[in-house]
Amino acid sequence: MNATASIATRHDWSLAEVKALFEQPFNDLLFNAQTVHRAHFDQNRVQVSTLLSIKTGACPEDCKYCPQSGHYNTGLEKEKLLEVQKVLQAAADAKAIGSTRFCMGAAWKHPSAKDMPYVLEMVKGVKALGLETCMTLGKLDKEQTQSLAEAGLDYYNHNLDTSPEFYGNIITTRTYADRLETLAHVRDAGMKICSGGILGLGESLDDRAGLLIQLANLPEHPESVPINMLVKVKGTPLENEKDVDPFDFIRTLAVARIMMPKSHVRLSAGREAMNDQMQALAFFAGANSIFYGEKLLTTVNPQANKDMELFARLGIKPEAREEHADEVHQAAIEQALVEQKSSEQFYNAAV
Ligand code: SF4
Repeated sequence: MNATASIATRHDWSLAEVKALFEQPFNDLLFNAQTVHRAHFDQNRVQVSTLLSIKTGACPEDCKYCPQSGHYNTGLEKEKLLEVQKVLQAAADAKAIGSTRFCMGAAWKHPSAKDMPYVLEMVKGVKALGLETCMTLGKLDKEQTQSLAEAGLDYYNHNLDTSPEFYGNIITTRTYADRLETLAHVRDAGMKICSGGILGLGESLDDRAGLLIQLANLPEHPESVPINMLVKVKGTPLENEKDVDPFDFIRTLAVARIMMPKSHVRLSAGREAMNDQMQALAFFAGANSIFYGEKLLTTVNPQANKDMELFARLGIKPEAREEHADEVHQAAIEQALVEQKSSEQFYNAAV
């Protein structure tokens, strides 16, 4: 009987406990994470989302890892808010190649009153296509959160990025408290939360543990927890940051899986730099969600068909939307994935 595997959903993790998880021998940690994973999920299914940048670059925030920040010169071509019709076309194409969730990201401090009507139209339109909807638009006030929920937004992404202690080294234009407040608004409005962080910012083990504690000790765990590996973009202050040890990255996924047993842990940015073996280990550690498509906002994402080849080699199948989880729909998704066409429309609009 394995002690870790029997851990129930908790919201009172201490730093010492989480560090003890990180410090387990690698095989023990992976075994424990896989055991927890199997208790809550089909271990051979991975949820597949597509991400589209609906407004690119010139962001007033100063996140040191981000090529979209207006504070750094990364040569990124700016793009204003995409037309609703273009977004809906991209969503329809994402559905055709098997994505079940369509995520729309805008590089804003917060959405403006002028932009909100367009954003709401996008949510309604994507929802009408039968896809789950997710947006990341920066800080939200109560009213904006409510109108997004009423338009049918399923998920709101707002990452905590790192521990509260290390946060000030990475971002100075938005506070940690602001982020937690936006997450609270999202919960209050009845939407699901997508929130995670980034490894490779120069953070310590305590900071990695601290990030996971912030997420797991929220009143409800985020339904989706993206764990990103820094993509070092030339022109950003972190372009020369030290690589994350791949095993430390896998450990973090495993600890996230154990601490948030019912959440989808998403293998997110940085996947391009991971070989097949590392991705397989990530799935074994409990990652069960990926972005599918050519580009992840502004950085390269592995070719969609490469993903499907890897899924096939590992016997992994894409997870269907809950409400359409009948065999016919599932078969259609799998077929569509196999036959998936070019996904050029998911290239970042700025590239
Ligand atoms: S991470 Fe988001 S908020 Fe920060 S600079 Fe990039 S687009 Fe702006």
